[in-house]
Amino acid sequence: MKTNPFKSPGQWYRGNTHSHSTESDGRLPVDERFAAYREHGYDFLVLTDHRTVNDVSSFSTDGFLAISGSEVHPPNPYGGDTYHFVAIDVHERINCADLHPNDVIQEIKGQGGEAVLCHPYWSGHTLLDYLPLHDYFAVEVYNDTCMGIGKGFSEQAWDGLLDKAGRVYGISADDSHGTEHDCFHAWVNVKAVALTTEAIMSAFRDGAFYSTLGPEIHDLDLVDVEDSQREKAKKIVVKCEEAQAITFKSQRSRGKHLTATDGELLTEAEYVVPESAKYVRVEITAPDGKKAWSNPFFFDNRG
Ligand SMILES: [Zn+2]
Ligand SMILES: [Zn+2]
Repeated sequence: MKTNPFKSPGQWYRGNTHSHSTESDGRLPVDERFAAYREHGYDFLVLTDHRTVNDVSSFSTDGFLAISGSEVHPPNPYGGDTYHFVAIDVHERINCADLHPNDVIQEIKGQGGEAVLCHPYWSGHTLLDYLPLHDYFAVEVYNDTCMGIGKGFSEQAWDGLLDKAGRVYGISADDSHGTEHDCFHAWVNVKAVALTTEAIMSAFRDGAFYSTLGPEIHDLDLVDVEDSQREKAKKIVVKCEEAQAITFKSQRSRGKHLTATDGELLTEAEYVVPESAKYVRVEITAPDGKKAWSNPFFFDNRG
């Protein structure tokens, strides 16, 4: 990430970046969708109805931020299924029918927003579909409604992008359509200086957030290795709530997976960054199987 949220100023804000209302195929009207997230203790919600954009400004209250967005579906010229992009902080409807997916991403950015690649596993999308694309800022590492067919987790797609495409953040989101089964399960904790769209978007662009299904990461740091043979060697140190496993992931065969033994759960782990690592990110797995994902630290290596 550009900014390590555990070392940056501000407060943590909990939010969901992907949700639907009766304006498209969701089951709740817009006001009830926002109210449900507010009542569940969320600080912000992005409304992302398919192919449409709503003015949501009247749903922000003291301590709760409504952000407008859309889920857009440009055709796929590379053989795979139609793309699903979540556009965060856009204000005008985007007509994708005749646009190249990269033009759609530029339109999103032109409106001041940012694009997320949605649910790669559910879409059957691979690097064949993604390598021609540019300027999206994140990919959904987890999408809760896609667990309806058991395809919520897209960790491998994220690692493929990080290895072959470049710097991209990971987001876990509900993609809420219903009222229970795909709600309040997957969110991001964002470190921002204020609960405003501007500050949240700035934190998103800097990667100052992490994704979770429940487990909390308490600290994440990149520090010098004092007694290393290598010049400028660094290690990543993570602290978290009690975990069954802590995993450090990098491109291809690099990484480290630690599991709790003898009932002693893990609350801390460290990993010396390999000289050839392009990135290292951290996953936490709680005893109940729920996961959290840090954003990657990026390194200028060719791997
Ligand atoms: Zn979708
Ligand atoms: Zn959706």
